[in-house]
Amino acid sequence: MRHVAVIGSGPAGFYTAEACLRTFGNDVRIDLIDRLPVPYGLIRSGVAPDHQSIKAVTHRYEGVAAAQPVRFFGNVMVGRDVSVEELRGLYDAVVIATGAPADRPLSIPGADLPGVIGSAAFVGWYNGHPDHADLAPPLDGETVAVIGNGNVALDVARILAKAPEEFEGSDIARHALGPLASARTRRVEILGRRGPHQIAMTPKELGELAHLSRAAPHVALTDLPPLADDAALEPGQRKSVTLLRGFAAEGTGDKPVVIDFRFFTAPVAILGKDRVEAIRIEHTRLDAEGHAAGTGETEDIPCSMVVSCIGYRSITIAGLDYDDRLGRFTNENGRIGGAGSGLYCAGWARRGPTGTIGTNRPDGFQIAEEIAADLPAPAGKTGGDGLTALLTARDVEAVSFADWRRIEAAENARARGGAPREKFVRLAEMIEASHNVQN
Ligand code: NAP
Repeated sequence: MRHVAVIGSGPAGFYTAEACLRTFGNDVRIDLIDRLPVPYGLIRSGVAPDHQSIKAVTHRYEGVAAAQPVRFFGNVMVGRDVSVEELRGLYDAVVIATGAPADRPLSIPGADLPGVIGSAAFVGWYNGHPDHADLAPPLDGETVAVIGNGNVALDVARILAKAPEEFEGSDIARHALGPLASARTRRVEILGRRGPHQIAMTPKELGELAHLSRAAPHVALTDLPPLADDAALEPGQRKSVTLLRGFAAEGTGDKPVVIDFRFFTAPVAILGKDRVEAIRIEHTRLDAEGHAAGTGETEDIPCSMVVSCIGYRSITIAGLDYDDRLGRFTNENGRIGGAGSGLYCAGWARRGPTGTIGTNRPDGFQIAEEIAADLPAPAGKTGGDGLTALLTARDVEAVSFADWRRIEAAENARARGGAPREKFVRLAEMIEASHNVQN
């Protein structure tokens, strides 16, 4: 019997487990280990709460978890409760699929002022991630600056701009819904350091901004390149830029909230005495390589909060080489530490924070193939039984998939009308719900 430990139960972890099942059939035991008592990683805590159709991919993961060779060890943190070295002793292969849960730092003066928030924290807050439940973002001002021109910036801008009733049917955390409903936000400034042709936003997500009940997007006509230049764009990007052209042509009408796209603006400092009062930007132009080049002309935009959506980094785990420049584990095509190490990585921990949920699937299949090539025969390891013994000796309470089902049932039962669930945001509440056999 081969024993595979997958650390992280987000998309990369589940696709790796699925691939190992397909590759090894009944000749494998796969343990999905997660530091939270709940599975699904970014699907639960990253995908926007008003994008429930994307979250439906968890039904596929449920099928994987239900397979007889797969076990879930929630509430177990690798590096704290068990080391990578110990897992290597217990398993034939250890796959790191821990994603990229930390913010890429906004390295400008004033970035540590209260009211400057990274997207991991802000998104985690409205999605009910236990790490960010106490965030309390300052929503008392009229203008919020959102840095970045990717899909996360769009998610954040949309959540800030929506009317309370537009969250119907979403699983936005209750602790976020109230403050967002009473927020004074009237302007969301989306700051892009390059231009409309360089955005990393996809058409479906961009198009949603045109259909918000109280908010409308604004694009300055002067920021748009000549129409003929769009012909050189790949079709998806052309669609996105066409949407921006539509926003510029339409204007904001009489909607009270404006989502303002400010292109060619690079953040250079956050200003304020005790909290954010403004963001200083430098106007930019594109240089010959397509990078943002400062023009020397700066402008201060008053705002009460800054959400930095400039990408993510993986978090290091003791015993593993980490590439600080790239913000992910040092690896070669998913192999960590060279042939024979038994260590692999998948998803954002391997590639960095790019691509869609589905991009993780081929990653998982490639890792399964590599494990098969490296491990023609099992080596008599103890796998999950050994892990269970070790955790019991250390008094660590692991949460099984059946336990998670009880947490899930309790979250579903306490949902607001029309909402799929009301997530628990405290670990102790999750553990308590996992014990309740009524759930
Ligand atoms: P992203 O797509 O990499 O976008 C990051 C943005 O930040 C870019 O516009 C980048 O500009 C900008 N940026 C980086 N460093 C900066 C700096 N120092 N100052 C100013 N701007 C800076 O990252 P993301 O938005 O975090 O998304 C991560 C991944 O998740 C992406 O693959 C995304 O598509 C995916 N995602 C998908 C959905 C969805 O499908 N609904 C939702 C959310 C996220 P430059 O281009 O100039 O570097």
